[in-house]
Amino acid sequence: MSFLALERLEKRYPDGFHAVRGIDLAVERGEFIVLLGPSGCGKTTTLRMVAGLEEATAGTIRLDGGDVTRLRPSQRDVGMVFQFYALYPHLSVRANLLFPLENTGLAKMQREVRVDDIAAALGVTHLLERFPRQLPGGDQQRISLGRALVRQPRLWLMDEPLGTLDSDRREELREVIRAQQLQHGVTTLYVTHDQEEAMTLADRIVVMDQGVIRQAGTPSEVYESPADLFTAAFVGSPGMNRIDGLVTGGVCAPLGLPVALPDGPVVLGVRPEYLHPDDAGPLRGVVVMDEYLGAWRNLHLDCPCGRLVMRLPPGAAHRPGDAVGLRVDPAHVLCFAPGDGRRLA
Ligand code: ATP
Repeated sequence: MSFLALERLEKRYPDGFHAVRGIDLAVERGEFIVLLGPSGCGKTTTLRMVAGLEEATAGTIRLDGGDVTRLRPSQRDVGMVFQFYALYPHLSVRANLLFPLENTGLAKMQREVRVDDIAAALGVTHLLERFPRQLPGGDQQRISLGRALVRQPRLWLMDEPLGTLDSDRREELREVIRAQQLQHGVTTLYVTHDQEEAMTLADRIVVMDQGVIRQAGTPSEVYESPADLFTAAFVGSPGMNRIDGLVTGGVCAPLGLPVALPDGPVVLGVRPEYLHPDDAGPLRGVVVMDEYLGAWRNLHLDCPCGRLVMRLPPGAAHRPGDAVGLRVDPAHVLCFAPGDGRRLA
């Protein structure tokens, strides 16, 4: 049995808005799950239902074998980490970090060890006797994260905890969160709309859209093998190229690829790194933008089949208006249904 199970979980807000539409998810003990999706897709609502801060309209939440759907938050033993986690201004950093460990049944000695461990992990040991007002904002944020991580409940629930930080600090604290999670084995649900964060942190990514789960899989599964066009476009920066195709007698135009699909329209998906410049290739395009990104360039092309993006080595500069021929890696072309966008092959 999985450690955390969401079964047909639904949330309809009092105004009638159907924010979560019957989702199923099984999470193993110690897994790091990232809920990823655009704003408004129901990530926070799902997390808040697991925390007990929002009542489920229908469905069941099971935690460690028990039905917790109707339990109060305090009865679930989950830790919620928000973006802003205020520090007590009248308490020292040490006292702020000790605070969440009160009433946990841990001996004083163990509590001190926990605080020392988390302070070391966050690089704030030298600040333990200071007061929050004496510290710059960056250190305060580090310590507020420490307050959340110092306790190890049955679940960590994190809602964009690094959302407001600059990118250097995000990366640094991302590492701390993952290291602490691995060290203590706390099963974690983490909400973000930042796919880089999702890719680097997750054991499995759950892609959500309009209150449903589109796909749950490892980062490489959702990237390499998206279940539908939504996931293909949402994951990846830029997302997967989409080319309208037509299958006739086992051959798919406009790429001329053999496919084992019935005759008719199909949508082809190709990641930018699997398109290559080739004057003899089946596609032609005109350069509209050449984005230099240091380690590579993204070349945006207008083609008869629509706008395509090709990832090239950094040295391969093009000018707007240049004509370019393209070929694709046949092994990396995916096929989707034009109607509901589900993956066909
Ligand atoms: P974001 O990244 O913007 O926080 P999200 O995926 O976490 O997005 P939710 O916060 O779960 O999305 O919200 C899902 C939908 O439910 C949104 O359209 C939101 O406007 C709506 N919603 C949230 N709270 C309420 C409420 N109390 N009453 C009515 N609708 C709500």
